[in-house]
Amino acid sequence: VGAEDAAYLVSKIRTIPGFPKEGILFRDFMPVLADARAFGILMGALEAALPVDVDDFDMVAGLEARGFLFGPALAARLGKGFIAVRKAGKLPPETISQSYDLEYGQASMEIETNVVHGGVRVLIVDDLIATGGTANAARSLIEKCGGVVAGFSFVMELTGIDGMKSLGDYPTSSLVCMP
Ligand code: AMP
Repeated sequence: VGAEDAAYLVSKIRTIPGFPKEGILFRDFMPVLADARAFGILMGALEAALPVDVDDFDMVAGLEARGFLFGPALAARLGKGFIAVRKAGKLPPETISQSYDLEYGQASMEIETNVVHGGVRVLIVDDLIATGGTANAARSLIEKCGGVVAGFSFVMELTGIDGMKSLGDYPTSSLVCMP
């Protein structure tokens, strides 16, 4: 991605201080999707920055909800299938679930049983990594099903939190770093 395109993309990321609660700088990339040029740059940049070779994974998994906004677009662009990793209770039964810690309390994520066949290599995508808790839960879920996590792609990485470190040795990429 050229400097001009990169600057244009970043200019479309909106920051909302104090949402959803005091002290949080909410990073919102809806304006990126609303702008055809910025969306095109985003998709091209995600593809160019893949953390592994396109032949080294079979499917793309997107995390609810904002991983659903560009995960399927990336999958279609790369000729891969898409796996929806959903919040608990949204999928008809048979699901496999994985709980994870939030700042206060716990949450869980689910995928449909049989969507990840043994040995399937999966690229996990989400809009943003903060602590890495969500991405790690998705990794556990894929691995519980016998899938192999090939790597992680994020649009944004929050600096100073070490979320990427929490992912260990898996290949990762992020397009934009922000505090
Ligand atoms: P974490 O599990 O701490 O890595 O948090 C990542 C998840 O929470 C992602 O699905 C993000 O969409 C969301 N998230 C966390 N922090 C922010 C933030 N500052 N702005 C927007 N989304 C966030």
